[in-house]
Amino acid sequence: MSHQPYSFFQSVERSFDKAANFTKWDKGILEQIKACNSIYSMRFPVKLDDGSIEVIEAYRVQHSQHKSPCKGGIRFSDEVNQDEVMALASLMTYKCAIVNVPFGGGKGGIKINPRNYSVYELEKITRRYTSELVKKNFIGPGIDVPAPDYGTGEREMAWIVDTYTSLKPGEIDAAGCVTGKPITQGGVRGRKEATGLGVFFGIREVCNMTDIMERQGLKPGIEGKTIVVQGLGNVGYHTAKFFREAGAKVVALAEYEGAIFNAEGLNEEEVFQHRKATGSILNFPGATNLEKNTDALELDCDILIPAALENVINKDNAPRVKAKIIGEAANGPCTPEADEEFARRNILCVPDMYLNAGGVTVSYFEWLKNLSHVRYGRMEKRFTENMNSHILGQIEELSGKEVSDKERKFIMHGPEEQDLVHSGLEETMITATREIMEIWKADPSIPDMRTAAYISAINKVATSYAELGIFP
Ligand code: NAD
Repeated sequence: MSHQPYSFFQSVERSFDKAANFTKWDKGILEQIKACNSIYSMRFPVKLDDGSIEVIEAYRVQHSQHKSPCKGGIRFSDEVNQDEVMALASLMTYKCAIVNVPFGGGKGGIKINPRNYSVYELEKITRRYTSELVKKNFIGPGIDVPAPDYGTGEREMAWIVDTYTSLKPGEIDAAGCVTGKPITQGGVRGRKEATGLGVFFGIREVCNMTDIMERQGLKPGIEGKTIVVQGLGNVGYHTAKFFREAGAKVVALAEYEGAIFNAEGLNEEEVFQHRKATGSILNFPGATNLEKNTDALELDCDILIPAALENVINKDNAPRVKAKIIGEAANGPCTPEADEEFARRNILCVPDMYLNAGGVTVSYFEWLKNLSHVRYGRMEKRFTENMNSHILGQIEELSGKEVSDKERKFIMHGPEEQDLVHSGLEETMITATREIMEIWKADPSIPDMRTAAYISAINKVATSYAELGIFP
């Protein structure tokens, strides 16, 4: 970021200001929303396996407490610095507000490259970080709830909940101090695919809006749409899967080593297995190799899904992008210059801040599960199945006809945890999409959907402050 004229946090502030111009909120309220409320910068020692002692640099930022707790991931990376954590924490405030998840934004970071440490060292660092957070009251189910981010996963979340619980004996809701936990430690089913599924639900809703589709020169609906996905990791894989299952054609997939194309559509699981077996996405049976992985971004298609890294679509290649819709599954894949180009050429960019909010939405469901101490579906599954069975029996008796076994299974089925998590996510993404579009349609001078999403966030956080009576 050093060659940029603005720091990461300043660039978030600039996007905020651009959107704030379209609102009528008091300047003081806007200043309060932008500010990072609490910044905890810490240093602690850790004894490494070779006996040496290293001082670790770490942060936790609570950007906003307009809702409690704060929420946001913990990142393990060499690049971690206070400005980055502040920027990411503020983006979490806006992301949660847009998808109506009642949390303030937070973010944590430890400045280490996890690959340079043994598992035992990582465990010590994670546990020590957690106890530093406990000491300063910077973690807890009602205070601040971390989650995985770059370089962390279920394993680290399990260490955090274990450390927290041991320091807070008898705290009945302790499991809700962190999300993204393994199922056995209080995690929720359906989290792994949550971000990709959220991307799918968000884009599907956009594609169901006839006026928007007309403007993009496309037919409504997902079926038959051509899709290009960059990045076959967690988010890209699941996004491709849900689009294919809904009848779209994933015509190209791009990875580090190159990209592949097949006009008839690719199956992400087969490609994934091929890559696992051969070490490369290239030479997949029936597909054409594309020399450069970035060539995929410039293919003729209806929907382009960058699901790998930031800044991949920029002033250099944006003029060659031919997709009608871009779905930002990754964080920050399009630069501001690309945004301007797309606004000029009527390419609809569906912004990351809300489109990839599936992870935090399902984290919210995990937290609710922890506070309620019961698995989703446990209370109603059997009741629903008995009721459905009874209703079906009555219909069959009265009509003298029987449904097929497949239909019977579908109708009878009572909700499991994963079904409820998926449907809660579907509801969340549909509502957020509609809210943003309403704002955009109401004012034609709003340049793009990203600005409309920011306005949605600002309105919600400002309303919350105003209703708290802080700014009478
Ligand atoms: P991941 O590491 O599982 O997958 C990323 C994939 O992109 C990898 O397979 C990698 O090989 C590939 N890749 C890297 N550089 C590439 C390039 N130049 N061209 C093509 N492919 C390339 O990560 P992920 O969890 O899927 O996250 C992807 C993006 O989505 C990130 O920007 C992340 O911040 C964002 N995101 C993730 C989540 C989540 O829940 N995992 C939530 C919100 C946002």
